[in-house]
Amino acid sequence: MVPVLASENLAEIRSRKVIRIGFALVMLIIAFIVLFGIGRMSKVHETLSEIVAHEQVAIEMLFRMQQAARDRSVLLYSIASTKDPFERDEQVLQHGRFGGQFAEARIKLNTLQLDETERALLARLGEYTNNTQKLQGEVLEQLSNDRFQQAQDILNRQAVPSQSKILATINELLDYEISKSHSTELVIQKQQVQTRIFMVAGGVVAAIFAGLIATFINRRMGKLISGLETSAHQLQDANHSLESLRLAMDHHGIVSITDVHGNITFVNDKFCQISQYAREDLIGKNHRLINSGIHPSSFFEEMWNTIAAGKIWQGEICNRNRSGAPYWVSSTIVPFLDDAGLPCQYIAVRTDITAIKEAEQVLMRGKYELEALVHERTADLEEREEVLQSITTAAQDAVIMIDSNGNVTHWNPAAEKMFGYSLVEIIGRNLLDLVVPSKYHDALRAGYPKFVQTGTGPLIGAITEVDARKRDGSEFPVEISIAAIRVKQSWHAVAIARDITVRKLAAEHLKQLASTDALTGAFNRRRFNEVMQIELARAKRYGTPITLIIFDIDHFKRINDTHGHSAGDQVLLKLALLVSGNIRDTDIFARWGGEEFVILASNCETQCPHSLAEKIRKLIEFYPFEEVGQVTCSFGVTEYCSGDDQESIVKRADSNLYRAKEAGRNRVCFDETNSPQ
Ligand code: GH3
Ligand code: MG
Ligand code: MG
Repeated sequence: MVPVLASENLAEIRSRKVIRIGFALVMLIIAFIVLFGIGRMSKVHETLSEIVAHEQVAIEMLFRMQQAARDRSVLLYSIASTKDPFERDEQVLQHGRFGGQFAEARIKLNTLQLDETERALLARLGEYTNNTQKLQGEVLEQLSNDRFQQAQDILNRQAVPSQSKILATINELLDYEISKSHSTELVIQKQQVQTRIFMVAGGVVAAIFAGLIATFINRRMGKLISGLETSAHQLQDANHSLESLRLAMDHHGIVSITDVHGNITFVNDKFCQISQYAREDLIGKNHRLINSGIHPSSFFEEMWNTIAAGKIWQGEICNRNRSGAPYWVSSTIVPFLDDAGLPCQYIAVRTDITAIKEAEQVLMRGKYELEALVHERTADLEEREEVLQSITTAAQDAVIMIDSNGNVTHWNPAAEKMFGYSLVEIIGRNLLDLVVPSKYHDALRAGYPKFVQTGTGPLIGAITEVDARKRDGSEFPVEISIAAIRVKQSWHAVAIARDITVRKLAAEHLKQLASTDALTGAFNRRRFNEVMQIELARAKRYGTPITLIIFDIDHFKRINDTHGHSAGDQVLLKLALLVSGNIRDTDIFARWGGEEFVILASNCETQCPHSLAEKIRKLIEFYPFEEVGQVTCSFGVTEYCSGDDQESIVKRADSNLYRAKEAGRNRVCFDETNSPQ
């Protein structure tokens, strides 16, 4: 609304300027035309007067001269014919007077400003006049001597023609003057016509200008009027809006108006209501009346400095009502400026924020209490953190924490020692890339999204033995237990890892001890039974052939008796080494007890069982046992048959061994039906 009015004002100002300049221009043109016309006319008039005066005088003089010349000629004829001397003297005198008149007119004519032609004609006229005067003088002289005939002759033959020349010259001069007068008249008429044309043209130009200005004014005025109409409508609308706003403000807000000294000149009902003062108690009083006294003087200084500088001030003020109770208002003070730009009054609009302030105070109290609690809890947590830090630092196990992206966030000294990465090197880096062997990568990557979302996974909450990778790339077994913890809305994992390399080796050793024979290093019977169970199950399921060989050293008691028990032990040891070195890796060799051994061979060819036993028999027979010399063994061989269990197959092999013993020892006995020929 305001910009529209401003632009219209500008347009109006411009229009006024244009109109003023236009009028000034028109007035200048008219003044110029009038002045020029007057100047031109007066010049024409002056020239005309001069010409008229000149020509009038010239023509008059010429007429006079013509008249005088004619009169003299006529008088001369009369003198020439007059006999009476007195009358003739009288006529001669008259003739002289006419001559005087002629001369006088000629002199006067000569005083005028004459042109070349006039001067030439006058010179000629002078010449003729002198000649005529001379002849007339001669005529008069003859007459005075009464020589009438001679006088008549001179007169007729010389004086009259000479006189005629004078008259002709005068006539020529008159014609010239008249024609000159005509041409002058034409020039003047032309000038007058030009002046009129100029004045008419000037008038037309001035009229066009005036018309243009009038059109411009008309248009501008039209625009201005429509602009003013629009502005009037807008103003009307604005007034309506302002009135509505005023009503709304008056209804909703606490409004007061003060003069520049803070003396109240207006308060609305809301003001009276909240301050508990009647309107008449407030009007004329200073606003300090409701000052609560809780704000420092600098607060009001700043406020007054702002509004006195013509700026709007906004802030929250605590006032005090008539009963002395404080109330808070959010206040906006708008200074109204006079024409000089200085504040002339201040309008303050406020809203009651007492309830908000009270709520704020409650909130602040709550905040302080909460802050104290947080402080206390933080100190507590810091203490716990310190304890935890000490624990993890002192721990022999690696304590590792990773965030939801798998990046390391905690790495204790034990982890540094265990994996070879320092804290600085590994913090923020991905654990998977550094310490997890690649064989686990796919499984971990597949399970990680679920962990990030739910904090669960197969490794969470369990103790698992896995391999880990050191900085040098070597792998080692670790026992890890992983827990999921929620930190800042995302799941993190804490892992405690223990290096179980030593434990694993010990276990392996124990396991080995438990499954091997201490003297020979071969599997013991317990281990053999375990393996045989597995192999029997496999044979049962897949039908793979199994051969069981049981062999017993012949007359071992005798060896012991002859060479001593330790020599017997040496025989047992060497024999075990000999056999285990000559069977396939897949064959299971065990000490069955005393000086009895078993071989469980799977996947043998049809002839394999017998030939394997035979091969071993020969090896032993021809092996030079240093301590005791030759040693032989008897072999009982059997194959897995459908429906066999451990007991039945061992029994059959044992029975075959018995038969080999019975048959004289150092031989191999197979199942009777399968015995080689
Ligand atoms: P046969 O040909 O019938 O098998 O005669 P044999 O003497 O070997 O008969 P027997 O089975 O009765 O004797 C086995 C002997 O093996 C008895 C025992 O003292 C001896 N023996 C058993 N275990 C060991 C051992 O670990 N070390 C030694 N040196 N001798 C053992
Ligand atoms: Mg025996
Ligand atoms: Mg024996």
